[in-house]
Amino acid sequence: MKAVTWCGTRKVSVDNVPDPQILNPRDAIVKITSTCICGSDLHLYDGYIPTMQKGDVLGHEFMGEVVEVGSGVNAEKVKVGDRVIVPFCIACGNCFYCKRQLFSCCDNSNPNAWLGEKAYGFSTAGLFGYSHLTGGYAGGQAEYARVPFADHQLFKVPETIPDEQAVFLTDIFPTGYMAAEQCNIQKGDVVAVWGCGPVGQFAIRSAALLGAHKVVAIDDGTRVPERLRMAADGGAITIDMRDEYVYEKLLELTGGRGPDACIDAVGMEAHGFTVDAFVDKMKSAAMMATDRPHALRQAINCCRKGGTVSVPGVYGGVVDKLPFGAAMQKGLQFRMGQTHVHKYVPILIDRIQRGEIDPSFVITHKMPLTEAPQGYKMFQEKRDGCIKIVLKPGQ
Ligand code: NAD
Ligand code: ZN
Repeated sequence: MKAVTWCGTRKVSVDNVPDPQILNPRDAIVKITSTCICGSDLHLYDGYIPTMQKGDVLGHEFMGEVVEVGSGVNAEKVKVGDRVIVPFCIACGNCFYCKRQLFSCCDNSNPNAWLGEKAYGFSTAGLFGYSHLTGGYAGGQAEYARVPFADHQLFKVPETIPDEQAVFLTDIFPTGYMAAEQCNIQKGDVVAVWGCGPVGQFAIRSAALLGAHKVVAIDDGTRVPERLRMAADGGAITIDMRDEYVYEKLLELTGGRGPDACIDAVGMEAHGFTVDAFVDKMKSAAMMATDRPHALRQAINCCRKGGTVSVPGVYGGVVDKLPFGAAMQKGLQFRMGQTHVHKYVPILIDRIQRGEIDPSFVITHKMPLTEAPQGYKMFQEKRDGCIKIVLKPGQ
């Protein structure tokens, strides 16, 4: 089959690779109809996530049709012919963490758990197409994928929800929603969102769905004006991080108090125009730092006393010069994590069916799978108004 493979920093290609096989009784094989490129894939593309190997199949936002099931798959839950979405994190459904709905912490899905234990004390769940640290699973930017724990991992999608909406249930819609839910939004709250990429866009709309009084969106108006426009279309007040001093502007919008909750939807590759951002850039270029946490620092500094900092943005290593004193002294709450996608899929299917949101608003480009290398380049360079790319295998 054809699949998008990682070939080194800023190099991906479309190769012929062996078709996936059922390896365990609870596996299923899914024929992929839609698959996306995620901001998380850019961290792999840019070479920031360790333990990638040449030839690894990329992709963790995919959906399609079940074409084969293993002998141990519960037939009442999944059968051949079902149209399904596949959460990016792999969860067994039975362990201590899955029982508590902390699906991205599943204890049974990462065959390379020892690597995670060395890096983080405990291993995270397995993730599709996301390095050997998270299990070395082949991803879903491909024609087919093997899905473990299929009767827990796959969610049937109602016929009324087309691929263009459903595919975002695999990751970015639940991710934005969990980021907003973690802010415990109260009547009158102001929520500020750093980063207007796809995750930020869903965080903005989810904060509004969950009752925020005002949502403020921050990004770079010179580099990605279309993202700020999309945020404004979603009801946010926008701040261009280039022209306006973000802290001053946030004070102005909150009566001098600061936002009640701050969401970092930027992650480890933030850029900025202040000294700390410049130092981050130099240190990461010299391989002396793993992450560039400029947006996180700003979120901590801008957040009101006793407020919440919610971090869907991905960080990988040891974060430099984090203003932990400010966080402690102001009594902030931190919420974060890889998204517990399985918990949110049924809730968000209901919201789509009730017409509260149409997730397809985020799509700017659709292309055949074979054009993935151009897609990665365009998305990484933020060219051609690119916000979200959907790849179509078999076209
Ligand atoms: P993206 O790269 O498309 O968007 C990031 C945006 O942040 C860009 O528009 C960029 O201009 C902006 N930005 C950079 N520096 C900034 C700053 N200092 N202030 C404000 N904005 C700034 O990525 P995305 O797909 O939206 O993903 C965002 C993050 O969420 C990534 O780190 C990704 O890995 C992460 N993510 C996490 C999960 C999870 O489970 N927690 C799931 C999906 C994605
Ligand atoms: Zn993703």
